[in-house]
Amino acid sequence: MDYAKKFQVKPGDKVNLDKVDAGFKDQHKSKEDALELIETYNSKLKELQYLLYAENKHSLLICLQGRDAAGKDGTINHVLSTLNPQGCTVSGFKVPSAEEAAHDFLWRYHKAAPARGQVGIFNRSHYEDVLVVRVHSLVPEAIWSKRYDQINDFEKILHNNGTHILKFYLHIDADEQLKRFKKRIDDPQRHWKISESDYTERNYWNDYTSAFESAMEKCSTTHAPWFIIPSNHKWFRNLAISEIIVQTLESLQMKTPEPTVDITQIRKRYHEILQKEEKSKPK
Ligand code: AMP
Ligand code: MG
Repeated sequence: MDYAKKFQVKPGDKVNLDKVDAGFKDQHKSKEDALELIETYNSKLKELQYLLYAENKHSLLICLQGRDAAGKDGTINHVLSTLNPQGCTVSGFKVPSAEEAAHDFLWRYHKAAPARGQVGIFNRSHYEDVLVVRVHSLVPEAIWSKRYDQINDFEKILHNNGTHILKFYLHIDADEQLKRFKKRIDDPQRHWKISESDYTERNYWNDYTSAFESAMEKCSTTHAPWFIIPSNHKWFRNLAISEIIVQTLESLQMKTPEPTVDITQIRKRYHEILQKEEKSKPK
């Protein structure tokens, strides 16, 4: 299935989240039904990351956004845990520290952007500065309204310097969020995940909807597309996201770099060493 095409917000599209089915699971009946495909993508992802690291030419930035309990942590745990940690950084963004707040809003995100050969995962991202900040008027409208263009410029800079950007909005509906809140209450192992803000933010459901819609309408570009991922079913979310990442990395047509040494010479030297050491071994 071409989920990249299906879920991508095309530049110029209007977004109406209430019309998007968060429970969509395509032709798959259950998780078991999709398991084989998920595993195929996971192993492809591993191979592609190896190439990204070896080629050391491109980088990949994955931004995860969504409401509370939408599954940002779960996506990192399930999809992105197949990656080699040596080629990967995960950055979570919370309320800015005093130092972060003293800089321009993009400073902390630019610092965390992936180096060449690396995958960078943003758990929340620069979009918070037009989401929570807009919903709660943390800065005046005259300031946040200019940030869409600033974000587009920032992403263009990253792209022009070899960073491929994928932005996923994990779409759950209000019933699913309540179900997940209940699961957290019922399971003592999950109590630590409950925060007061989950409940206060739910009161701003429609304001967040508008803020997410604006962000996706204004900032989905061909070089840094937004995808709306139906996420009520966690396994479907994982499947769709891994397919899109695999497709993006495949399109880069990466190759392992040319060797920096003469392999024929090296092979000869290896055999010389082998012979010498064999000879000097006590019989
Ligand atoms: P969590 O991801 O559950 O650990 O929560 C992080 C909290 O930090 C969320 O409530 C976010 O809305 C908040 N947050 C993240 N970025 C910003 C920002 N730029 N300004 C204000 N709050 C933020
Ligand atoms: Mg939270």
